[in-house]
Amino acid sequence: MSSSLEPVQSTATQTGAVAHIDTSALTHNLARARALAPESRVLAVIKADGYGHGLLPCARALGSADGFAVARMGEAQRLRSAGFSQRVLVLPGVFSVTELECAAAARLDVVVHSHEQLQLVEQAGDGLQLGVWLKVDSGMHRLGFSPADVKEVFRRLEQARAVRGTVKLMTHLADADQRELAGTRDQLRCFGECTAGLAAERSMANSAGLLAWPGTRSDWVRPGIMLYGVSPFADRTGSELGLRPAMTLHAMLISVKEVQAGSAIGYGATWLAPHSMSVGAASIGYADGFPRNAPNGTLLGVGRQQVPLVGRVSMDTVTLDLRAAPGARPGMRVTAWGESNPVENLARQCRTIPYELLCRVGSRVPRILD
Ligand SMILES: *Cc1c(COP(=O)(O)O)cnc(C)c1O
Repeated sequence: MSSSLEPVQSTATQTGAVAHIDTSALTHNLARARALAPESRVLAVIKADGYGHGLLPCARALGSADGFAVARMGEAQRLRSAGFSQRVLVLPGVFSVTELECAAAARLDVVVHSHEQLQLVEQAGDGLQLGVWLKVDSGMHRLGFSPADVKEVFRRLEQARAVRGTVKLMTHLADADQRELAGTRDQLRCFGECTAGLAAERSMANSAGLLAWPGTRSDWVRPGIMLYGVSPFADRTGSELGLRPAMTLHAMLISVKEVQAGSAIGYGATWLAPHSMSVGAASIGYADGFPRNAPNGTLLGVGRQQVPLVGRVSMDTVTLDLRAAPGARPGMRVTAWGESNPVENLARQCRTIPYELLCRVGSRVPRILD
């Protein structure tokens, strides 16, 4: 009896969207991060399923990093179950005794950013072997202890019996991607002042800090987006920063047809054919993570041509103006993003950031390692 619960997906016959992951690009980008901060150790941030690229393949490709950072306990546990023995930092920390015990059993590092978490750690028993990173709120006002509390919290954590090794100090930058703003300089000063004299390793830089603010390259750096070859800055692409995009999101042209002048294309009739012309449909839609608010004119690759999207993005399909690609035939490959179509450009057109587009690549999209 065949079961419909476990569909077998043959990628050889895949007509829907497929994300190709170039693992050599991941290692290239890690090397680039190391070259920028040769004195620092690197925590490769692979939260959100490796920014949509796949947790375990990213961990494998980035295995020479000094550790990983994730945002969910489940991801840390998947890394341990898969045999990764590197340092793994759980960025939001733990929120119950059970979570704390799980973290300790899996020899995870946790962030402690609140008084509630401080109490959990203080009340934990002996021999728990927890690695702890004290998070300072140096100006982002999201998570972290206020600067005035830092020395006292550090002292208490150093005395907690459950803590393994020395407590580390970290903070997160709110606008390191804005080179012209004073925010990062203020955060640097704040973090420096409130941790002055504490004998501890420090960590500040995300990708934007690492790339644009040398002063944030402390003992540990925490690059995320740049490892995937994507820029944290609105005004340039990863390639322009010497990075190689790791993901190419492909689909297939599933239809090519002629429409009459005045034909309305797609839901809501948001685009009218100005004359009789060739319109294509590609096998990618918002269920695959292609943003529904992509405007008319957004460019996708068809063969070697760039062609504009016309009409509304639907769940499984986008429609394309094929006037610039007279040779287009069903079965041809369509590129939603990748080296030739930077995801940064699509994000800008859709008024979002590439982080969101990468994380939202749908669960039905196979990730194929190249
Ligand atoms: C996500 C995250 C990072 C990585 O940020 P990028 O901008 O992707 O480099 C670093 N540190 C913390 C605390 C994070 O949450």
